[in-house]
Amino acid sequence: MKINVLGVDFDQVTLPQAVEVGSVLLRSAGFSYVVTPNPEFVLMAEQDEAFRTVLNGARLTIPDGIGVVYASRILGTPLVSRVPGIDFASGMLAVLNEMGGRLFLLGAKPTVAETAGNKLSEQYSNIVICGTHDGYFKDDAPVVAEIAKTCPDMIFVCLGAPRQEKWLAEFGPQTGAKLGIGLGGALDVFAGNVERAPEVWQKMGLEWAYRLTKEPSRIGRMARLPLILTKATGVRMRGKKA
Ligand code: UDP
Repeated sequence: MKINVLGVDFDQVTLPQAVEVGSVLLRSAGFSYVVTPNPEFVLMAEQDEAFRTVLNGARLTIPDGIGVVYASRILGTPLVSRVPGIDFASGMLAVLNEMGGRLFLLGAKPTVAETAGNKLSEQYSNIVICGTHDGYFKDDAPVVAEIAKTCPDMIFVCLGAPRQEKWLAEFGPQTGAKLGIGLGGALDVFAGNVERAPEVWQKMGLEWAYRLTKEPSRIGRMARLPLILTKATGVRMRGKKA
């Protein structure tokens, strides 16, 4: 079932259900991509129709931010839970590990993807990290060709939104991977450069606040976030579900 939050269709799934769907996609023919929108994505997608189309073209759309869940409640069509992209990624790594599959890591600053790959290899010994590439390139074609040569089963694309989702929709099928996931800053976390919030903060839905204490420069971006709740309230009061 899809739950529409201000134009973006989210899947009504818990984390284990999302991983189950991801696991089926990973074993299916053809390419699929998964997106992990937070409130910033939803606000961007309102202004950027191409981005909205790409988000709604994903095989699985999971609510990465607590703000999306709150907005869905205000709209009267509550999402069951937040599904953090990084937790979904970890679930998919366990699945790929069982399969002995191949993973390509694309994105982040130079050396970060490589470090993340080394750390993931230690943790998931059956996964083959078939290649890595930083996220600061101009020409897509050589990067796509380089990825395709490594024959990945799964690819993490961490270029920031909306670039990573548009990249997945346009180039994902040419990589030869079965599954591509847009994961924002996940490689920085897997590399050990950025810490996740302690579990108690996560459980309280305050991961965003913890992140703000670590990266105060994000305040400008975050200041817009309550807007999603205001917009949802406006839509609910007008009795529409746009
Ligand atoms: N990034 C990239 N290429 C770019 C811009 C950003 O690879 O041209 C990377 C950046 O280094 C970071 C990730 O994209 O690792 C996204 O970071 P951000 O904090 O914006 O994502 P979030 O976790 O908030 O979705």
